[in-house]
Amino acid sequence: MTQTAESQDTLPTDQAESETSPSQDRWSAAQSAEMYGLEAWAGGYYAVSERGTIVAQPMRTEGQGVAGAIPQIDLHELIEGLSQREIYTPVLIRFTDMIHTRVREIFGAFADAIRDNEYKNTYCLVYPIKVNQQRQLCEEIRDEHQVCGGGLEAGSKPELLAVLGLTSTTPDIPIICNGFKDREYIEMVVLATKLGRKIIPVVERFHELNLIIEISKQYGVRQPIGLRIKPTASGTGRWQSSGGVRSKFGLAAPQALRALEYLKSLGMEDQLEMIHFHIGSQVCDIRRFKTAINELSRFYVELVRLGAGLNTIDIGGGLGLDYDGSQSTFDSSVNYTLQEYAADVVYRIKSSCDDAGIPHPRIISESGRAVSANSSVMVIDVLGRAEFPSVPDMHAMQAEIRKDPETPQPVLDLLDAYDRLSSGEYLEVYHDALQAKEEAATLFNLGYLSLTMRAHFERLFWTTCRGVLELAMNEDEPLHDDLRDLPVLLSEIYFCNFSLFQSLPDSWAIDQLFPICPIHRLNEEPTQRAVLCDITCDSDGQIAKFASPDSREYKETLELHTLLPSTKPNEEVQPYYLGLFLVGAYQEVLGDLHNLFGDTHVVYVSLTEDGGYIIDEIIEGDTVEEVLAYAQYDSKQLERMIRKETERAVKSGKFSVAESRALLKFYEIGMEGYTYLE
Ligand code: PLP
Repeated sequence: MTQTAESQDTLPTDQAESETSPSQDRWSAAQSAEMYGLEAWAGGYYAVSERGTIVAQPMRTEGQGVAGAIPQIDLHELIEGLSQREIYTPVLIRFTDMIHTRVREIFGAFADAIRDNEYKNTYCLVYPIKVNQQRQLCEEIRDEHQVCGGGLEAGSKPELLAVLGLTSTTPDIPIICNGFKDREYIEMVVLATKLGRKIIPVVERFHELNLIIEISKQYGVRQPIGLRIKPTASGTGRWQSSGGVRSKFGLAAPQALRALEYLKSLGMEDQLEMIHFHIGSQVCDIRRFKTAINELSRFYVELVRLGAGLNTIDIGGGLGLDYDGSQSTFDSSVNYTLQEYAADVVYRIKSSCDDAGIPHPRIISESGRAVSANSSVMVIDVLGRAEFPSVPDMHAMQAEIRKDPETPQPVLDLLDAYDRLSSGEYLEVYHDALQAKEEAATLFNLGYLSLTMRAHFERLFWTTCRGVLELAMNEDEPLHDDLRDLPVLLSEIYFCNFSLFQSLPDSWAIDQLFPICPIHRLNEEPTQRAVLCDITCDSDGQIAKFASPDSREYKETLELHTLLPSTKPNEEVQPYYLGLFLVGAYQEVLGDLHNLFGDTHVVYVSLTEDGGYIIDEIIEGDTVEEVLAYAQYDSKQLERMIRKETERAVKSGKFSVAESRALLKFYEIGMEGYTYLE
């Protein structure tokens, strides 16, 4: 089952290349690793094995690069094992050890920065559960936080209730409360403080400060308070409006000052313990952090000078992930490492405090994406491909066309263009083919081109285009502008068993790139270029933008393998699985029920001490009955209605009793089944 590097099984990186002899004409796992950019985006958490499969390496930091020290989990083997348990794709796999490793890595980076800068206070990672609230995942984070000293953040009343429950046996875990707060929310916070919890509500609007003061007096509680500052600095890309003067949350300088004056007037200024900001998620450019941290540090220093009892600075989230592996300021990438981020944060806060001669505060970051994204992979299967018209036998087709004494001119023109391909004048051929296409469309609409002739024309047109592209690609120069759309037009469409809206909403909503690659057959050359379509009936349900580590651009098609015909009667093609990686942040909870495709199965997998792995938990995806209930349907009532209809059909002789029973059986089984194709 599980492989270790002892067996020399993994060829993820440069090591792989050096072991590949140039004379080997067989496609190697290392070539796949390079093609899909694993080294760039996987950060050592995923690699390609010599068997041509993707392996997860949940402990990547421990003994990285040392043969025999990295336990691995073969994704393809895992998926096959799940099929044997009747758990079919699409399925979300969560590697729990990766969550622990990631938390330790972030703490480790800050520990190094604190040591290197001789910083005189501590760092605390607070996980905002909004990023992924799934109980099992939060429990893993909580458990690791107990060891490392981290905390949890709630951004709403329901999240606070979840966090309080999650930490009831670990009451020392720090809790930060953000988001809009009403009386009930604040009362809950104050009572939790009275209970002995380490909880800080962050004042986002002045009104909340009044409520905190009133309610904490009512219960006789000394309530530590945080202030969210509205910085001038903002993040980058999609989330930059979370920061800056027009940001939704926070107090600008005049309000922050007023808050402190108000607390001072009540003799409560020592309770103002923390300032906080959040400049946005997935901050691509480290310079944005540098500027923002400087600004926050200056707020800190000034407020301390004015008498606030501050001891903590909370720099919010934003620590990004290199989804496309380009290490750039492109929206789906980052131009910095975790180590650089930690070093910058610590250095800048220290400098401001040292200049002002005030003690270093405790540093909190609310990193969410950076904690949970790596640990989850969505595995989907390809169901088949869209048929593309092409000419199987050119001679037969030419003969067929020429048989017709009145072959329309555009068809003859296209035939002529096709014949001229051999001259190598592909650009002219393409222009002529386009002209013929336009004219053929007009003739068809006017009734002068038969459907049969149109079918011949279309086959010939696409065959000509393929020839044009082939010739153009053989040249050393970049594709001519007029041909730029051809690779995409001629790419394959692979239909995949998943809903983009349920499982990868950020790909649809904000064009975020996620690394995608097959989880097997990686020692075969992928000869096709394809876009991926989901099974919703929405034309938006497709992925046509793919990570391209070598550039700041995205690719419009993905290199994939030819689908192999299945020998099984109910299956179009042999199983071909794709992994959608780094999907553990924001995707699950933002996903929706478009076309009533529900939550997928989720499987928690962890390493065992003997170097193997175990499936800890399988949470089965929504059944049809469950998703119908979300839309206020009562499955039993639906069944009764169908039963009545079939009885009427039996009565009128339209249906036999056996047919009626068969339909009802399908209906019942369908209700209990998975919403995806099985
Ligand atoms: N803190 C706050 C206040 C947020 O709004 C968010 C999310 O946008 C985060 C933390 C988490 O951000 P990230 O996932 O980028 O670390």
